[in-house]
Amino acid sequence: MMRYGNITYRTFLDQIIADPRLKSVLSAPLFDVAVGPRQVSAATAMSLWGYYLDGAYYPKGGSKVLRDAFVDGLRRTGAELVPSAPVSNVTRKNNRWLVRTEGGQEYLSKVIISNVDPVATICSLLDREIVPDRIYRKADGLQPSGSIISVFVGTDLDLVKMGFPTGNISQFADWDLGSYYDGWLGKSEPSAERAFFVNSPSVRDPEGGHAPQGHHTLQILTGWNYEDFERWGHLPPDERGEEYEEYKKYISDLLVNKAERYAEGLSERITLMECISPLDCKDRTRSITGAIYGPAHTPSQMGPGRFQSLTCGIDGLFLAGAGTFGCGLFYCAASGFYAAQKAVHYLGHV
Ligand SMILES: Cc1cc2nc3c(=O)[nH]c(=O)nc-3n(C[C@H](O)[C@H](O)[C@H](O)COP(=O)(O)OP(=O)(O)OC[C@H]3O[C@@H](n4cnc5c(N)ncnc54)[C@H](O)[C@@H]3O)c2cc1C
Repeated sequence: MMRYGNITYRTFLDQIIADPRLKSVLSAPLFDVAVGPRQVSAATAMSLWGYYLDGAYYPKGGSKVLRDAFVDGLRRTGAELVPSAPVSNVTRKNNRWLVRTEGGQEYLSKVIISNVDPVATICSLLDREIVPDRIYRKADGLQPSGSIISVFVGTDLDLVKMGFPTGNISQFADWDLGSYYDGWLGKSEPSAERAFFVNSPSVRDPEGGHAPQGHHTLQILTGWNYEDFERWGHLPPDERGEEYEEYKKYISDLLVNKAERYAEGLSERITLMECISPLDCKDRTRSITGAIYGPAHTPSQMGPGRFQSLTCGIDGLFLAGAGTFGCGLFYCAASGFYAAQKAVHYLGHV
């Protein structure tokens, strides 16, 4: 980690590979961390390859079964879950934490573990006076990862018969992936033409209940930056108007056309289509600018550049999630586990 966390993947590849096309092929799966080879930490790219070379696990039934397993496990331990209650403020009162929600509920506790992005936890939710200046500056300086356009498609095409694969297809318009990732990260106009990714949950997981008999699901994605959608950001989700919906439809159609290379005739055989924009990502997960993987996995934001200690210099407050060890279900779940251990240890001493 010390050796490869601090250099970019591009620097690492340049040291061992001369063929530019091979470098591009080895960089293609970086979509999974939303940063290109010129920006991503080499350690992150290697852990991504470790995941693929190990088999790239897919939970039967989709990611919702993981969520349900966590929820069931928590309930069995007696945990009370309070859904749809956004926290508006976290402060200290009489040596206790006081958590207030937007709906006006208040909760008192001795410890808190927050898996809300550290930028939001530290710079927005916590009262400014209880945050050490150094910690505030660190969180405030974190740059978010990119966001996405994701089109969920239902079709009555027989994708299995058509030979649609069980894996992820990543397609780039040319060998230089840099321009695509630059657009994604907001340095140039984003474009559905430069790259897209397509997979079929129902093909890879036929028993998963993803689609009715005789139908299939496809997910077509491409990276997009939040700024392109910011003009609608001040409006509530159902009041963004026709122009917003038309723009989403325009990008969706582009992506569906691209995916026809792998699912011929798709545009004529769509039974359902829903497009998720960077604004939708922000609305649904409250992530910073719709970032899909927390703070970007660049060398300066790895290890000590994130909140890997799961603490932030404030007694009784622990952090978990993508802003700590890194993005992905495994790292995020591990961070929650270790944050809980730290919290239990802390409770034994107060
Ligand atoms: C489209 C997509 C595909 C992905 N695919 C994979 C994959 O195949 N494999 C993989 O390992 N990872 C994948 N990831 C990444 C993985 O989902 C994330 O890294 C991980 O879920 C982040 O966990 P977290 O706990 O940090 O944040 P989250 O899972 O986002 O949890 C944070 C929670 O805090 C809530 N919240 C935010 N603000 C507040 C507030 N003020 N009050 C109350 N609650 C609040 C949010 O609603 C959210 O539920 C994917 C991500 C995306 C977006």
